[in-house]
Amino acid sequence: MTALLEFREVDVFYGPIQALHKVSLTIEEGETVALIGANGAGKSTLLMSIFGQPRAAGGQILYRGQDISRKSAHFVASNGIAQSPEGRRVFPDMSVEENLLMGTIPIGNQYAAEDMQRMFELFPVLKERRNQRAMTMSGGEQQMLAIARALMSRPKLLLLDEPSLGLAPLVVRQIFQTLRELAKTGMTIFLVEQNANHALKLSDRGYVMVNGEIRLSGTGAELLGNQDVRNAYLGGH
Ligand code: ATP
Repeated sequence: MTALLEFREVDVFYGPIQALHKVSLTIEEGETVALIGANGAGKSTLLMSIFGQPRAAGGQILYRGQDISRKSAHFVASNGIAQSPEGRRVFPDMSVEENLLMGTIPIGNQYAAEDMQRMFELFPVLKERRNQRAMTMSGGEQQMLAIARALMSRPKLLLLDEPSLGLAPLVVRQIFQTLRELAKTGMTIFLVEQNANHALKLSDRGYVMVNGEIRLSGTGAELLGNQDVRNAYLGGH
């Protein structure tokens, strides 16, 4: 079976500095996969390299069997990969509805009304705030908006960069609960997180990244039970 996304020995550089070293990983259709690692390990770089920003200097990034490592970000987005970026970068001066409409750009707006209703069911708070400017919303609400906006392009693969960053524990639980519902609908999710506990509990499989290399992989449960992972990312408990 062809993986939905596969990294084969991908190298990425920022100038002379190598940020990713021969990274290999696979994500099968319908899976939820977590990439965990410390600050600066290279997790965001890996996600951004899927859109060619930065470009892979070596190796291949295969999406449904096709090497996309030389394709434009627009090509990647319009072929079914959407990202909710780190720091939940929503358009601050736009309303919730306007932000959601921006998410349809890769595919056009023919499903916009229908999909907006779907987002309001998944994230009821966004319905209540549909006319509110994004900058006036809480961090958790903005995170939900960033995820919903990504979903408006009807992705086959949803990329999430640190959805729990800077949010209160209760809000983090809500967001992971929604991600669990989304995964149950068959959505393929690739999640980058420092919050290893939540990420691994949600995920079918996980990868651990250290200094730009994949050090360890396994099922979510295996990694949660691994003593090295517990010591490094779960406070040793
Ligand atoms: P964080 O959780 O802080 O986002 P991360 O695991 O996502 O961490 P990256 O942001 O991918 O890590 O960074 C990986 C390495 O590449 C770090 O050493 C970082 O300093 C470096 N780096 C990231 N972006 C750039 C850039 N634009 N120019 C030069 N170096 C960069």
